[in-house]
Amino acid sequence: MFEVRFHGRGGQGAVMAAQTLAEAAVIEGRHAHAFPFFGAERRGAPVMAFARIDDEKISIKSQVYEPDLLVVLDESLIDIEPVARGLKKDGKAVVNTRKSPQEIDLGVEVECATVNANAIALEFLKAPIVNTAILGAVARITDLVSIGSMKQAIENRFGEKFGEAAARINIGAAEAAYEQASVGLCQGRRPLVIKREWLPDWRDIPIGNSLSAGIKDGVMVGPGGARQNLTGSWRMQTPHYDQEKCVRCLRCWFTCPEGCIKREDDDHVRWDLNYCKGCGICSQVCPVTAIDMIKGGSR
Ligand code: SF4
Ligand code: SF4
Repeated sequence: MFEVRFHGRGGQGAVMAAQTLAEAAVIEGRHAHAFPFFGAERRGAPVMAFARIDDEKISIKSQVYEPDLLVVLDESLIDIEPVARGLKKDGKAVVNTRKSPQEIDLGVEVECATVNANAIALEFLKAPIVNTAILGAVARITDLVSIGSMKQAIENRFGEKFGEAAARINIGAAEAAYEQASVGLCQGRRPLVIKREWLPDWRDIPIGNSLSAGIKDGVMVGPGGARQNLTGSWRMQTPHYDQEKCVRCLRCWFTCPEGCIKREDDDHVRWDLNYCKGCGICSQVCPVTAIDMIKGGSR
């Protein structure tokens, strides 16, 4: 599996960059997903986005802690947070900067592509939205996806959202960055001081099941949100459990975002369909295909 972590600021398009990279991988017939992590939701605030690409189905849902590729959309972030934390020793980096790779100190000495994505974005888009330029540099430094697939993904995603003309301009920015990126080794002198993460670990997933429910101001909070909200009414497909196949690994129980899978005493599982919204995550993570999603919302 190849994991990518994007660091940018609100408004630079880090989320679209991650989604577009994932789409380019899907165009090449691979499995991929992408999603953001927002802190304070405002323009200019540091944001992260993640992408994973694999030849196999991807079941892990956590943030990316040990990226193979680090993408920094705003150089100033390097000074305010240890953006390269967890970056694999044989990983790679892409940085939006005027500097050469040799002038950049990420705290880990890795192969690095630098590109002045700000200048490219201002030339092509007339705005400092650097995501498509940075994707051109990503295509240059990795063989993750070809520049052709990247351009196709930009055309699909930006064309659908902003129209054909916008797609063409963004493809131009990606092509320019692909041509202009400099590749070399960056420095690894900066100490990477890792701040304690405030999020829970076991890789963030099972909030639904790892916390116990409680009542606050008369509203049930905790697993799956409010108990009064019968999310089972949203369901368009229903899990069908084959107990014979089940190896009782409890991945489904651990992963269900609604916390509606219960453990029996013998570690077999059962569903509370009042709350199962039919997302299918349990079926996706089951290692032995013991859960089939059946069309329809019946109980
Ligand atoms: S489909 Fe599975 S994971 Fe999704 S809500 Fe229902 S039980 Fe939970
Ligand atoms: S993930 Fe599959 S094998 Fe594991 S407990 Fe759930 S149904 Fe059983």
